Amino acid sequence: MNENIAKRNRLLAQKVLRGLASRNMQGVYAETREEALGKALEMIPPGSSVTMGGCASAHEIGLVAALKAGDYRFIDRDAMEDKRAAMLAAYDADVFLASANAMTEDGVVVNVDGNSNRVSAIAQGPRRVILVVGMNKICPDLDSALKRARNVAAPINAQRFGLSTPCAKTGACADCKSPDTICCQFLATRYSRHPGRIRVVLVNDALGF
Ligand code: SF4
Repeated sequence: MNENIAKRNRLLAQKVLRGLASRNMQGVYAETREEALGKALEMIPPGSSVTMGGCASAHEIGLVAALKAGDYRFIDRDAMEDKRAAMLAAYDADVFLASANAMTEDGVVVNVDGNSNRVSAIAQGPRRVILVVGMNKICPDLDSALKRARNVAAPINAQRFGLSTPCAKTGACADCKSPDTICCQFLATRYSRHPGRIRVVLVNDALGF
């Protein structure tokens, strides 16, 4: 990463961490992907049941591979035929992994979802939620975070999953009501009532979409 961008991110990350703390969410900062992996694993006790929403960032820092190889009960929803059972298992898991489609500088976590299993599990269910978030997801405010979620993250995800939405074809949100839309639910997590439940690993790198 360009050193000027890295330096700016380092400074901005302190504001994000203060914002998370003010919202009863725990944030930690990692300078590299390797450091992020170590900090995420410190949050997951051995023997934990772990599942995840789609989370490219967790793959990119090596977390999913480490969990599959380690002393954890990793619930691999992609390997389960019964998708409803996989979804329900997530609500009772010790740890749920996800990222954010965007985050505000003052710590609000924004996600949009089609099936909505990811946003519902972030909101309630799993005992601990760990969000791996690259500094590329940080936006000045809630409005710009929603715009990022719908104009950057959503089109890329729609393309990845071969969905028939306007954004998959044009790269920009058309506020569609397509049957394939991945913008069924918007979740802005602005506070957690449960201390230590939601934890963010903020990484000084570009991760995910
Ligand atoms: S509302 Fe439709 S066009 Fe806009 S980002 Fe969501 S899926 Fe894409």
